[in-house]
Amino acid sequence: MDLLEYPSNEQWEAASKAAELIAGQLAQLHSELVNLTAQVLAANAWSGGGIVSPEHWLMLRCALSPTRAKEIVAIARRQGEFPELERRFAAGSVSLDQLAVVAKHVPTTHAAAVVPFVEGATVPQLRRVLPRYVFAPTPADPASATPRTEPLDDGPALSMYTNSGRFHLHFTADPVDGALVESALREAKDALFIGGDASVTLADALLEVASRSLTAVPSTSRRDHYRVLVHLESDGRGWINKRGALPEHLMRKLTCDGSVRPVWLENAAPVSVGRSMRIVPRRTRALVEDRDLGCRFPGCTTTRFLENHHLTHWADGGASDIESVLSLCPRHHREHHQGHFTIEGTPTTPDGLTFRGRYGFAIQATVASNAPPPQHPPPDPQPIRGWPMDTRFIDFGPPDRVA
Ligand SMILES: [Zn+2]
Ligand SMILES: [Zn+2]
Repeated sequence: MDLLEYPSNEQWEAASKAAELIAGQLAQLHSELVNLTAQVLAANAWSGGGIVSPEHWLMLRCALSPTRAKEIVAIARRQGEFPELERRFAAGSVSLDQLAVVAKHVPTTHAAAVVPFVEGATVPQLRRVLPRYVFAPTPADPASATPRTEPLDDGPALSMYTNSGRFHLHFTADPVDGALVESALREAKDALFIGGDASVTLADALLEVASRSLTAVPSTSRRDHYRVLVHLESDGRGWINKRGALPEHLMRKLTCDGSVRPVWLENAAPVSVGRSMRIVPRRTRALVEDRDLGCRFPGCTTTRFLENHHLTHWADGGASDIESVLSLCPRHHREHHQGHFTIEGTPTTPDGLTFRGRYGFAIQATVASNAPPPQHPPPDPQPIRGWPMDTRFIDFGPPDRVA
């Protein structure tokens, strides 16, 4: 449309009508994307070949931001729980951003009760009201009707063990101690996220907390005493701190990056047998990190804690120069050595590398083809939104009847 065709006093209305039509169409298309994502989740069709999450898959396929991808996945995971809102979403009168707030905060028991409010509220209003609203539990739900009685004075308990090549940790505590641990983990997770790792998990946060704690130990001798040592036999076997043997993929990953300096042993005596070539020289490391500016895996957003990967492992005669070394985040480095995907080509040009999944398909950040958009019926008109409101008087009533 061309707004200049309208006399000035009608431009506002014409512009608003045009924007509303586009908003409705956007909602319809978003609803299709959510439906597709729900199917992709159900079939696990996103996974494999280094794609770390459904969100990562969406970022790669649809060029979405991490936040938007997260919202779409969150809505897709709850698909079917908000039938009326989902119907209006598909018809175009409820937006993706509105539904994202609902999916995050509204229990299924109030799916119907919130409909008029959600449709009539702006996204900032929804964000202000829904997280703070106390949704009454359903009386019919025995879990919420009778609060579980736990002993109050149980101290925190923690157990650790290694089994089948994996380390396990189990922790229980009262909710106050739990909140302390949770806050520490969430802070560390956020710090890693700000550092550029969009797919950071709470498990990564625990590792961050542990490494910070060890780094903060003031005494050098004490720090050395608690250092994690990787012992590698020159015949290729290895273990950590006298535990069981390390799996082979882990060995290759540890000896691929120069940041771990293993203790080489021959007949249990430390040796230096010219293996130092394997370690990426500091200068090469800086050049590689400058060149790559983050993990080279397509769509990965990590820019910190990068590791150097050798295209040809040193044990197979690979060199440590910048044509044969590339940056990977710890997760993609690990997954590559576990065999989730292969890397070919030359890292010196932006498009020089080809990543392939287990079954040979190439993993690329492709952006939409020129396919025509799907045909939709005209969207429903946009409701009036943004009522002045006093949150004290918002009442979504009792929960919906449970069938
Ligand atoms: Zn590697
Ligand atoms: Zn990565």
